[in-house]
Amino acid sequence: MSLLSDILTFNKEFVANQAYLPYQTESKFPEKNVVMVTCMDARLVELSQKSLNLSNGDVKVIKNAGAVISHPFGSVMRSLIVAVYELKADEIIIMGHKDCGMSQVDTTSIAQHMIERGVSEKDLKMLQYAGVNLDSWLNGFEDVFESVSHDVSMVQNHPLLPKDVPVHGLVINPETGALSLVVDGYETLKG
Ligand SMILES: [Zn+2]
Repeated sequence: MSLLSDILTFNKEFVANQAYLPYQTESKFPEKNVVMVTCMDARLVELSQKSLNLSNGDVKVIKNAGAVISHPFGSVMRSLIVAVYELKADEIIIMGHKDCGMSQVDTTSIAQHMIERGVSEKDLKMLQYAGVNLDSWLNGFEDVFESVSHDVSMVQNHPLLPKDVPVHGLVINPETGALSLVVDGYETLKG
């Protein structure tokens, strides 16, 4: 059995047994009126919600590698803007985590792995000529606290977001769920 066939078989049972009932929500809007950017780390799948007392339907979640907002007009920022203006998110949380795979990413090693897996060196060189700097594109961060703080500031000062939305910064421990507060968005709003 492949992973996909396992998933499809389980899913038929899940729906037939109405196992979805505990997850049904009032609406598509987040009950706690919050949108969160966090990391795709597998340890956070349930932990990041449970340890913050966020249930299904409470929060919009945007995930990527490292909870990094790499571009002020990239897809993460677009999702935040849609969440705030159209999906009833009144607060924003940026939550990185300790021991993140995106801290101290070895971009040389990734490029080497690409070549081992069949990407041609010629294509990698061509990207350089096209102005794509693979190193800075793949690069993560050295310090998760700095990364979260930088992202909070980028969101807080984004020209297309209203100035009355609190933007909080958190770092979670992926083993215990313990949070460190990096930025209290209410305090920032008070000035
Ligand atoms: Zn991570």
